[in-house]
Amino acid sequence: MPDKTVGGGTAAFLMSALTCFICISATSDAALAANGVIPIPRPKPAVAGAGNQTVSQIPNDRGEQGSPTQTKPAGAASTSCYRALRAVVPSARREASFRNATGCGMPDPVVVDVVAARGSAVALSAKPMLSCKFARKFATWISDVVAPLARQHMGAPLVGIHVGPGYDCRTRNRAKGAKLSEHSFGTAIDLMSFTLANKTKVSIGKTTSANARRFLKAVRATACGYFTTVLGPGSNAAHDTHYHVDIGKHGRSGHYRICE
Ligand SMILES: [Zn+2]
Repeated sequence: MPDKTVGGGTAAFLMSALTCFICISATSDAALAANGVIPIPRPKPAVAGAGNQTVSQIPNDRGEQGSPTQTKPAGAASTSCYRALRAVVPSARREASFRNATGCGMPDPVVVDVVAARGSAVALSAKPMLSCKFARKFATWISDVVAPLARQHMGAPLVGIHVGPGYDCRTRNRAKGAKLSEHSFGTAIDLMSFTLANKTKVSIGKTTSANARRFLKAVRATACGYFTTVLGPGSNAAHDTHYHVDIGKHGRSGHYRICE
């Protein structure tokens, strides 16, 4: 899906995100248990070196441009990331690092299917392939922030999110000659809708209930505390029905955020 527009974040928006983050962090397993929801126990980190295998072929060649593709085993840094990721996504699958002739690829690919959130398991529709560093941030946000927000505003556990494939070797907005999208490095994902345990579906850009609007507003605000780019309805026509979040670097410091 398209992404990346030029624009500026606002201090107020960031403050809002941080404020929400602080209050949400106070959500405890005990509080969830009091509401009749059994917290999912998080597994101990995987044994060091597990999954650090050599793979000769790219396991998920998702319509890439350019060839050949080079692969190599993941390094120690990605091993530690993977171990941490497994605490939030117990079933995360590690893949070999790869880079194709176009420049697409990542050093630490993982496939993420279900996030062990606070109080529920959240299935990701597309089982996206992501860079581990991004996957860890994304899954933590879902677990620690989005799932509690769903319970708070919608009154039901979050059980699913309709997402895009994550990794997608293409240019920004699919424009010819444009820079590679963050999707090309597995450091971006698109979110289209949220599904709750009571079958309620909250679709971005198509929501009419007041509770759902408040939920989506809070989700979007908190995303700015985790990601460097957050786009959605109102950013431009290309994002009218989904949120795009990524960890692309803006400016020299890399601390600048685009939260629209
Ligand atoms: Zn996107």
